[in-house]
Amino acid sequence: MEEIVTKALSLRIEALEALSHVQDEKGLEEFYVQYLAKKGLIPGLMTLMREAQDKAAFGAAVNSARTDVTAKYEEKKQVLAKAKLEAKLASERIDLTLPGQPCLPGRVNPYRLVIDEVVDLFLDMGYEVCEGRDVETDKFNFELLNVPKDHPSRDMQDTFYFGDDYLLRTQTSAAQAHKMLEMERKRPIRMIAPGKAYRRDDDDMTHSHQFAQIEGLVVDKGISLAHLKATLELFAKKMFGEKREIRLRSSYFPFTEPSVEVDVSCFNCGGKGCAMCKGTGWIEILGAGMVNPRVLEACGYDPEEYSGFAFGVGVERVAMLRYGIDDIRRIYQNDFRFLKPFSIK
Ligand SMILES: [Zn+2]
Repeated sequence: MEEIVTKALSLRIEALEALSHVQDEKGLEEFYVQYLAKKGLIPGLMTLMREAQDKAAFGAAVNSARTDVTAKYEEKKQVLAKAKLEAKLASERIDLTLPGQPCLPGRVNPYRLVIDEVVDLFLDMGYEVCEGRDVETDKFNFELLNVPKDHPSRDMQDTFYFGDDYLLRTQTSAAQAHKMLEMERKRPIRMIAPGKAYRRDDDDMTHSHQFAQIEGLVVDKGISLAHLKATLELFAKKMFGEKREIRLRSSYFPFTEPSVEVDVSCFNCGGKGCAMCKGTGWIEILGAGMVNPRVLEACGYDPEEYSGFAFGVGVERVAMLRYGIDDIRRIYQNDFRFLKPFSIK
């Protein structure tokens, strides 16, 4: 047999012998580099092809060396991987009889509780829930609500702008205009829009730059202040107890005319006067009013034919009053000690 063919055959035997001594993955990798890698000994045999006289015999010897050694190599690789996994499983055995970590039940943030209850109440009355959007245009947040560019009430709502036209909405009222335009003066509206609103307030015990409101809007033929009062009375009873009464005080908002501040009779003293109601027997809970005819008109409803009422409730304020929370920031801190007493009814 030609010497060069013998060389190929003995390299095969040598490689298989070396492989049989490999003990671990590191050794296997070294083996691969030495014999099978592109520049390893076995592929290297091919460079000798030119010297071979019996090229067929030499080619066959090289091929069988490569095929056999590769097959044995793969086999060894699997054996080592399996052994490694078994060793790992043996070392990480879990003792299922050990006592587990107790899993504490979650709690609902009081802020969420208020939203859910208000939504339930208004759904029962046939309202629909509109989502609205957190990023608004100046048009929907202000202009369509009768707050033109130079209006002084904008200062009170000094807000977060993106460029000239986009802003984080300062009031959930922005959802009103969307709904009215969407309806294209075709149908009456009964909607509430719970969601976040944003103002550039300094955060303190009663203010936060981000807060939640629930907006309510009813538009139909023949809607009057009496409808508003009856609706808000139901709301106050649901939130603060059956014995509550409300009173309306005249106020001013650009998007309603007339506008009212709504007070609820003090649920702490029953109206006699205490620290909570500052001795007056009444606690202010929200702002409301009859939709300003200009807003109706801007949003495509004929104010001669349609009227409506709107109200906006501060969710945190209701939660703070209801649960006696002294600092608005507690609501956002997600402290389990604070959340513990609250649960879903
Ligand atoms: Zn009181």
